[in-house]
Amino acid sequence: MKILLIAPPVFDFYFTTHRMEPLGLEYIKAALENAGHSVTLYDSTASGKVKTVSTPPEFAYLSKFYGEDVSPFSLHSGYKRLGDSFFRIVDFIKENNFDLIALSSLFSPYHPDVENLAAEIKKVTKTPLSIGGTAVNAQKKKIAGTTNADFLNCGNGAVTLPILVDALAGKTSFGEVPGLIYRKNGEIFMNEPSFEPAWCNGLIPKRENLRYFRKKKIAKIVFSSGCRNRCAFCSIHRDNKLAYREISHIKKELEYLLSIGAEVVDIEDDDIFSNRDYASQIFEILEEMHEKGLSYTAMNGMTVRNIIPFAAKLSKTGFIKLDLSLVSAEKSVADNLHRPHGIAEIEKVIELAEGKTEIEVFLIPGLPGTEVKDTCTTLLHLHKLGVKGGLSPLYLVPGVPMFEEMGIPENVRLCRGSALYPFDDKKRADIASLMKISRFLNYSLDHKNDDNYELFLNYFNESLRRKCWFKLGKDGIWRDSFDFSEKFECEF
Ligand code: SF4
Repeated sequence: MKILLIAPPVFDFYFTTHRMEPLGLEYIKAALENAGHSVTLYDSTASGKVKTVSTPPEFAYLSKFYGEDVSPFSLHSGYKRLGDSFFRIVDFIKENNFDLIALSSLFSPYHPDVENLAAEIKKVTKTPLSIGGTAVNAQKKKIAGTTNADFLNCGNGAVTLPILVDALAGKTSFGEVPGLIYRKNGEIFMNEPSFEPAWCNGLIPKRENLRYFRKKKIAKIVFSSGCRNRCAFCSIHRDNKLAYREISHIKKELEYLLSIGAEVVDIEDDDIFSNRDYASQIFEILEEMHEKGLSYTAMNGMTVRNIIPFAAKLSKTGFIKLDLSLVSAEKSVADNLHRPHGIAEIEKVIELAEGKTEIEVFLIPGLPGTEVKDTCTTLLHLHKLGVKGGLSPLYLVPGVPMFEEMGIPENVRLCRGSALYPFDDKKRADIASLMKISRFLNYSLDHKNDDNYELFLNYFNESLRRKCWFKLGKDGIWRDSFDFSEKFECEF
């Protein structure tokens, strides 16, 4: 059969374009090709094209935060689409004949846009259309009642889609397709999904469109699935059992990535180093492949405690950047959230890495129990240690009890971090201010000797003093931006 897999365009106020490789669909493509099918992967964001589009009305309250500002403490400006337009994708479908189209939907706040694309596709073709991914897993009952697709698929698509193709060919029944959600005589049926990891059958997916990170070609990889920790705000441990890939497969994949020109490999795992034996073998292979030309990042945020035994050799192994997730430095908050580590472990990794590997530490401002002034203190502490502090504003994950209790909005678009949705106006302005503070602290690590640095520092300090941000227009004029209420002590 001829199958089209689509990684859809993304709509938001910001993107991390170098992390957009559709690794899940690449695994599904490999599984379908192994089953003898002809598969096209339409990778909508591969071009990296970004277009400003009109902001959905539900985000109108964000306009005062995300306006034009070219200062080093600016936030995002404008709502954008990353990737090809719906017209382009639909035209591609009209020009080709497929027997099945499958769309991925990986993040609940983006699911409405995936449904809009599905509706456009269904206007021009009768080809069966399925939507799958973590967004479907998280809200399958709700989505099943409203979707524009013919099918939904939950769990591992690399297992589900080859069997769905068989069912479409009449070789098996829809009831035999793991994770399939389908309608029959007006009734909705949901099959039990397979949550085996995508790599479980020894698949090594082919890469077609490597992204760029700091002008180097970057590819994603996973060594494992799941996580042994149980952080209250996380869904990783809900659907994915902890499992590790065979070391020989990992080596084969790294050799393949090197052969196609990848220079940086982004390790997307959450918990690979908790098994000391396995981690030692991984480090050996990473070092061997580093000598042949590969470098590594870990942008998904690794469990810090497990890295300590290896931190002194991060640079020698080839790690150029490590993202560490701290979430909150407050012990009581961290304990309440069942976090596996705190600031002490982060400090240890920073000390052992000796500045040879870039480290960025991520916090989640606005988590229940956290105070904005404490988050600011942690940012300053990290700044003094010479590392960047990144803020990931709280985003609501449907299906995670902690967030269900807080209230998942009916309009899931509002669940994204950039929406700053869970806060009242006062707190929202303080959280947005924290984001600006983090931007400027990080900027100051690299730009202290720039000509304009003192000027920017003055406007930054004056903004904090008067509790109203300045913003810098493209015309070079400083104007007032938004007010906030917290008194930030920000000496550095
Ligand atoms: S350590 Fe990370 S992946 Fe594991 S449960 Fe906590 S947040 Fe999730």
